[in-house]
Amino acid sequence: MVEGQGIGSWLRLRAVRSAGRVALVFNGAELTYDALADRVDGIAAGLRARGVERGDRVAYLGDNHPSFVEAMFATARLGAVFVPLNTRLAAPELAFMLADCGAGALISTPALAGRADEAAAGSAQPLVRVRVGADGEDGAGDGFEELLDAPPLTDLPAVGLDDPALIVYTSGTTGRPKGAVLTHGNLTWNALNVLVDYDVTSADRALMVSPLFHVASLGMGCLPVLLKGATLLLQERFAAPDALAAIERLRATSISGVPTTFQLMADDPSWSTTDLSSLRLMTCGGSPVPDRVREAYEARGLRFSGGYGMTEASPGITLLPPQHTAAHPRSAGLAHFFTRVRIRDTATGQLAANGAAGEVEALGPNVFQGYWGDPAASADARTADGWLRTGDVGVLDADGFLVIADRLKDMIISGGENVYPAEVENALMGLPGVTGAAVIGLPHERWGEVPHAVVTLAPGASLDAATVVERLSASLARYKVPRTLEVVAELPRTASGKVPKRLLRQRRTAAAGDS
Ligand code: ATP
Ligand code: MG
Repeated sequence: MVEGQGIGSWLRLRAVRSAGRVALVFNGAELTYDALADRVDGIAAGLRARGVERGDRVAYLGDNHPSFVEAMFATARLGAVFVPLNTRLAAPELAFMLADCGAGALISTPALAGRADEAAAGSAQPLVRVRVGADGEDGAGDGFEELLDAPPLTDLPAVGLDDPALIVYTSGTTGRPKGAVLTHGNLTWNALNVLVDYDVTSADRALMVSPLFHVASLGMGCLPVLLKGATLLLQERFAAPDALAAIERLRATSISGVPTTFQLMADDPSWSTTDLSSLRLMTCGGSPVPDRVREAYEARGLRFSGGYGMTEASPGITLLPPQHTAAHPRSAGLAHFFTRVRIRDTATGQLAANGAAGEVEALGPNVFQGYWGDPAASADARTADGWLRTGDVGVLDADGFLVIADRLKDMIISGGENVYPAEVENALMGLPGVTGAAVIGLPHERWGEVPHAVVTLAPGASLDAATVVERLSASLARYKVPRTLEVVAELPRTASGKVPKRLLRQRRTAAAGDS
């Protein structure tokens, strides 16, 4: 039965068109489109029997596993709202999200069941708890036995494109995560943007190493791949040697990730001996790609398709097709086919001319309507004429290529000049032995703020402030060069690989208070 136009209808429609073709590969097991559609219908019936109705929020906690995909589509089939949770969060942080979205059910994989129980106990409302399966069940097509004996559903709701499909919490880089409500239409249009702009075919074998709970993997990888009838090669979690081995063994044709994903693979000992000849598309987004990483891939004839997006845009806003990387190496590319981008001068409040920096604004059917239960933040996220205010600073050139400078909130103003930390971090990453870099502004009597560098180093490497000043002065204006340097064992990172600068700033303030 196919009811409505929501994403919940996709697998049933695919099952007819792509019968016998493999939708998911996990731990050596394969699940065809028809088998997947049957399981999803069974799980939907089981969830309904446990009390899940249209509009209810169904949260999911687990690393990559076919059950994530099954639970998401089953939830969508019921017109309920799927809430993917970040597995790196602690129980109280998860409890906040469960309470914030008013989840009525919580599904977890065996490995995360303990933390899920703890989070459920800490949330105010009663929750239906569903466990995907017993320990040791780890193949495609396993799990959900407790749901699969419910009688089949005969009355699926007609889910429309304007109905909410997902609540995705933002990465929490700049503050508390916000629950972005993404509709079936938002996800459909984003998937169409991907299929129109990237060359995805039904013959593709897309390696998924990044966590599905992150909207980049879900929106840019999982959903378009399944809409197209291609094959998703799911990896439980990312480890560089495993990812490289999987590309070679499974003959993956595409892989997506954040810059750190690609950096760790290029730095892995097995990098040079791995056969990467099956790869034809590598998509990378979430933060700027350091030149050093891009160059390591180019040296092997492999090019990234960089992209820029955010949870609120489901998430794709721009992409840089591989044929344009050479001419625009640092650009995040062109606005997606059905999406528009413009720049606003933050000083004057007027739209900016080509070549001038300002806040990036986006419009399109993939852009969300608002945050769950937060009308004030939702209103704040839009301009008077309905464009999404991204909070990022960028520049558009005459051909429509966008360069992202950094977040407005992270920009440093030193002696009246704007310093974009991302540019300085890219230069720091080019110094020998530097494996990670973050630049923040420190208060300064004379200049207002001055850039300060925090770096991680490879084992045995060393770096001091004098060397930084000497090396960076060759390529950067004087006011951009950090005069002070801290070497740390590890930089704090969100699940999407971003450094929450507010934590670094808080640490500095706390340290200053102690001394
Ligand atoms: P929060 O909104 O909770 O502070 P977040 O903004 O990091 O967290 P996401 O929606 O995961 O949450 O990330 C979107 C942000 O990531 C963008 O607003 C932008 O700052 C950054 N980003 C995404 N792609 C790129 C890119 N290609 N280059 C530079 N920055 C990027
Ligand atoms: Mg954000």
